[in-house]
Amino acid sequence: LQTGWAILKRALLAVSGTREADFRATYRKYSDSGETAESLLAGKTSPPAAPWPLAEAPAWFARLAELRGPQAKAEHLEARFAVLRPVEAKYLAKIITGDLRIGLKEGLVEEALAAHFGIEVRALREANMLTGDLGAVAAAATGGELARLGIRTFRPVQFMLASPEPDAEGIVKRLAPAEGEAEIWTEEKYDGIRCQVHKAQGRVALYSRELREITGQFPDLARAVEAVPVDFIGDGELLAWSNGKALPFAELQKRLGRKIGAVGDLFLGEEIPVSLWLYDLLWFEGESLLKSPLRKRRARLESLPAGERLQVAPVTRCANASEIDAAFLAARQRGNEGLMAKDPASPYQPGRRGHQWLKLKKAYATLDVVVVGVEWGHGKRRGVLSDYTFAIRDERSGELRTIGKAYSGLTDAEIAEYTEYFLEHTIEEKGRYRLVEPSVILEVAFDSIQPSTRHQSGYALRFPRIKRLRDDKKIGEIDTLAHCQTLAGAPPAVEH
Ligand code: AMP
Repeated sequence: LQTGWAILKRALLAVSGTREADFRATYRKYSDSGETAESLLAGKTSPPAAPWPLAEAPAWFARLAELRGPQAKAEHLEARFAVLRPVEAKYLAKIITGDLRIGLKEGLVEEALAAHFGIEVRALREANMLTGDLGAVAAAATGGELARLGIRTFRPVQFMLASPEPDAEGIVKRLAPAEGEAEIWTEEKYDGIRCQVHKAQGRVALYSRELREITGQFPDLARAVEAVPVDFIGDGELLAWSNGKALPFAELQKRLGRKIGAVGDLFLGEEIPVSLWLYDLLWFEGESLLKSPLRKRRARLESLPAGERLQVAPVTRCANASEIDAAFLAARQRGNEGLMAKDPASPYQPGRRGHQWLKLKKAYATLDVVVVGVEWGHGKRRGVLSDYTFAIRDERSGELRTIGKAYSGLTDAEIAEYTEYFLEHTIEEKGRYRLVEPSVILEVAFDSIQPSTRHQSGYALRFPRIKRLRDDKKIGEIDTLAHCQTLAGAPPAVEH
């Protein structure tokens, strides 16, 4: 929709005749876009007798997406708000900001759809995992065509995800609870971008973690995959790679389209070559491997002809915590950020963050956080918004709680670009500080974490620094208060 806070605010101000200061006071009271809209519009709109028919909404949203520029979008919104009941406006605003907060989890929607169509919940969930699109699943269920939604080439499947584990002992407890029979597979945790590759009938497609096609950005890699003599769907990490070594993540970033503006440069292929390190195989020569154990998927994976551009990530088999620690250190010494531990008996579970894949990032912990406030910088950084305050999520209430502040580690050009972005996405100005729409996700590194009353979360980070932007993650995926508690090994210093 490309309709952020600034546009929403503009339309609400126009329809309600509210002054900026009152708007801020209302927002502060609710901290929720929908409730702010509902409260501001009470008594200010002239809705017709019948409510806005749901069937008209798709065309209206399509138009909003089509319109260019904030002015046109705000007018489109205004015209609609002016004839909505405040409670309708509330949900419209919530849908636009993508933050419903109605306590409805995806699992419940799956259950409701299954009950409605008389389908087994398991079948419906599976279809949702495969497509990652509950809307498409509902549409298929309407036509009785759920079975059609199996894994298919050139339709990307949601990625299987990993849960964090603070140390090697934790991994052993999860993956090999009974003594003696342990076999835990570890792989290095590569610091690139997640990539799913589909190769069939001479065609190749690469998809990013958000299931966006990125083949056009990596034609050199696509050509290398084309040469593989078998058809397959693989999962792995795309790295900038040259002369047998991974290049820093920043190099890879040059080849990626960034979130705002600029697309990737197609001519950097020679200068910044990439390699795909495959660690899983989802489909091989017409056969789905999703339900096969990792052991079998790996055997097939290792049968692929690897080369400089398409590599198979090696596995180290570990029997106990000290072997895991050794593998971790070896991975760190090779410049990787940590270790992934996997259960060789586990199926591939698209879209699920379970405990069959665990990630160990100890000693160099990072947190995924969202920027909630920005501040004007000093000295060289005068005139740009360079100090970011960021937050984690309280998993029980869903609220964001600040945990730290860091100077942006971005390039000058990026800082300038984000300055503009944050100016447009400011919710409230408080002197030098601006409360901003929580939409920019960062990965921050730090040396340690301890309970502290300095921030809302009840924790503080020692030496936080921005490691990179995580525009491949959504706000629902940032780290939680519970995870901070695990890392800190102590409860927060502030009661929630
Ligand atoms: P995080 O981004 O910190 O949630 O860690 C999970 C990510 O690690 C995955 O989405 C992958 O992009 C990346 N990763 C790197 N190496 C591996 C590996 N060997 N197995 C699975 N994921 C990996």
